[in-house]
Amino acid sequence: MVSRRIAIPLLLASILAAAPAPPKSLRLYVIDCGTLDIPDTSPYQLKKEELAEYRMSAPCFLIVHPKGTLMWDTGPVPDGNFKPGGGPAGFAPATMRYATSTRPLASRLAEIGYKPSDIQYLALSHFHWDHIGNSNLFAGATWLVTKADHNIMFADPPSPRTEPQNFSALKTSKTVYLTRDEYDVFGDKTVIIKAAPGHSPGHQVLFLKLRNTGPVLLSGDLYHYPEERKLHKIPTTEFNADQTAASRAAIEGFLKKTGAQLWIQHDYTANAKLKKSPEYYD
Ligand SMILES: [Zn+2]
Repeated sequence: MVSRRIAIPLLLASILAAAPAPPKSLRLYVIDCGTLDIPDTSPYQLKKEELAEYRMSAPCFLIVHPKGTLMWDTGPVPDGNFKPGGGPAGFAPATMRYATSTRPLASRLAEIGYKPSDIQYLALSHFHWDHIGNSNLFAGATWLVTKADHNIMFADPPSPRTEPQNFSALKTSKTVYLTRDEYDVFGDKTVIIKAAPGHSPGHQVLFLKLRNTGPVLLSGDLYHYPEERKLHKIPTTEFNADQTAASRAAIEGFLKKTGAQLWIQHDYTANAKLKKSPEYYD
């Protein structure tokens, strides 16, 4: 006979195991996935004194649509870097990977009722280390990726700009290669992945049509610092600076046309003002 002391936690666990019921309209959760303590801002063609804030935010985003869920970027610090018992985590040595995070992504998702295995789609703005840290958690999702970034992610030798062990499980994930300028994830034009190559060959941004917040565009790394946008600076480390310039022009036109707000993901000051999960935008 199962004692009550065991049965009640089991019952609770099974109730907690179900993903939340789909909402009636689109939701966007902004999840704190860490901070980048940029050691040298010169690759951005900006001096520290030209920047209001030199640190960068590194958020992850969960998009919850009535028809399913999409994870957009998975942060810099893998959950496996956290020690049992809590406390912030980063990398050792931190010279190349200058990121810290205060809590594992899986625990932030659990707080709003989701397990990584509940998530239906995964899309990364691009393959760089600070965007892919927890991708292995979402190997059961359908991965929406460009062939160009996919090729770099599984190239041998690997790119020094990423950490292949943090996305290796995606190799066998169900994969949809994005070949057009726009990919309408749920088929109702409310969640659209848009090609914006240059920062990486397959770099992309995410357009969201939120009912109350209005249209929002998540930047990926189209810009890092808001000063790049204001002063028209293109980092020296882009995969293709001409492509970046063209993508920026196209996206700025798109923002004008749609009236969407641009959320620069790495903009520390702007990100600090956003509501964070468990709160959400709708
Ligand atoms: Zn980045």
